[in-house]
Amino acid sequence: MNTSTSHDLFTRALPLMPGGVNSPVRAFASVGGEPFFAQRAEGAYLYDVDGNRYIDYIGSWGPMIAGHAHPKVIEAVMTTARDGLSFGVPNALEVTMAETLTRMVPSLEMVRMVNSGTEATLSAIRVARGATGRSRIVKLEGCYHGHGDSFLVKAGSGALTFGLPNSPGVPSALADLTLTLPYNDLDAATALFDAHGDEIAGLIIEPIAGNMNCILPREGYLQHLRALCTKHGAVLIFDEVMTGFRVAAGGAQQLFDVVPDLTTFGKIIGGGMPVGAYGGRRELMEQVAPAGPIYQAGTLSGNPVAMAAGLATLELVRQPGFHAELEARTHLLCDGLEQAAADAGVAVTTNRVPAMFGLFFTDQKVDTFTQATACNINQFKTFFHGLLKRGVYFAPSAFEAGFLSAAHSEEDIEATVDAARHAFREAA
Ligand code: PLP
Repeated sequence: MNTSTSHDLFTRALPLMPGGVNSPVRAFASVGGEPFFAQRAEGAYLYDVDGNRYIDYIGSWGPMIAGHAHPKVIEAVMTTARDGLSFGVPNALEVTMAETLTRMVPSLEMVRMVNSGTEATLSAIRVARGATGRSRIVKLEGCYHGHGDSFLVKAGSGALTFGLPNSPGVPSALADLTLTLPYNDLDAATALFDAHGDEIAGLIIEPIAGNMNCILPREGYLQHLRALCTKHGAVLIFDEVMTGFRVAAGGAQQLFDVVPDLTTFGKIIGGGMPVGAYGGRRELMEQVAPAGPIYQAGTLSGNPVAMAAGLATLELVRQPGFHAELEARTHLLCDGLEQAAADAGVAVTTNRVPAMFGLFFTDQKVDTFTQATACNINQFKTFFHGLLKRGVYFAPSAFEAGFLSAAHSEEDIEATVDAARHAFREAA
């Protein structure tokens, strides 16, 4: 595979941009080698600047659930852009977006549009803190909520451990306000709330964790967190930046039938444009400026072109059978990967929900952060490169979920499993 043009671009980028990229995981740092540079994308495929085609299981890290460059999304963007790119006054598409989101997700009574998932989560914890008058927040070990200071906290080794910064630049005085819990541990959550319940403004969780590979909540876990937050007067925040509209038209909260107080969104609601949103119970959202005193604002928030891309994508996602079809394809892929690995004598296990999956190099069921990090990373790296050179692009990290789009056909999945058969043999 010739990647010389990508190599030249990366060589130019390295002295100019940290790591040669604008977001760290793109740099292939954890798998070795160099990233390829995209020329264009269509349907299930990415095409690089050297003309190579890749079946893409990342979908720009989540937004492209309808497939790349879907004609309806592109048309909506082009039509809207002709009327101007940004107004700085309200526009009708923002209202349509709010109506759409509140209809699709019943726990959303009010919503505020922002420009990224990070902005959404930062704003949500501000609301939790402002509304409760408390300072501490709880996050789950292995969950990622963007790069806000309060979220860049490394988990300690116990349920009651106070967080410490894991990124220089995060003041410890702030990081100390973030408490961490092991994902899927009901007792640890109970103990933490028993000890600190009256100091906790809110708990934020990925209801399906997609940033430590893909971990599903244990039966009753989310319900348990719901009950704890209710009992202790804390705000339950579901970070559905990744799962929102991906795993079900109403998000993971619909899949697991749990009602959070606030939810954050991103990715799919922008259809590939930079968008985020947060929303939830009216009495909380009414405290956001200018309705209330909790300040949050944005020059480009509710941008018309971004709203148009998001609305066109959400319209596709709402089609009957959309998620059922994606679920069937996800099973086809995961079953195929498991079989191909077994044939090659490689131990793997998969976790799956509609349009989202995790592949772990272990023979154990994986539903904790500790198990996820104990998998065979070297086998993953060999497997990743084995796929890449055969034109299949999985996330360049063992700790990211994989995504399918509506554009992934059965033939694409068969071709992927075929490539995986060879890659597993190389990783054995
Ligand atoms: N929350 C979750 C669950 C995410 O997966 C991400 C990004 O991957 C974010 C928040 C941050 O979103 P953004 O990268 O748009 O700031």
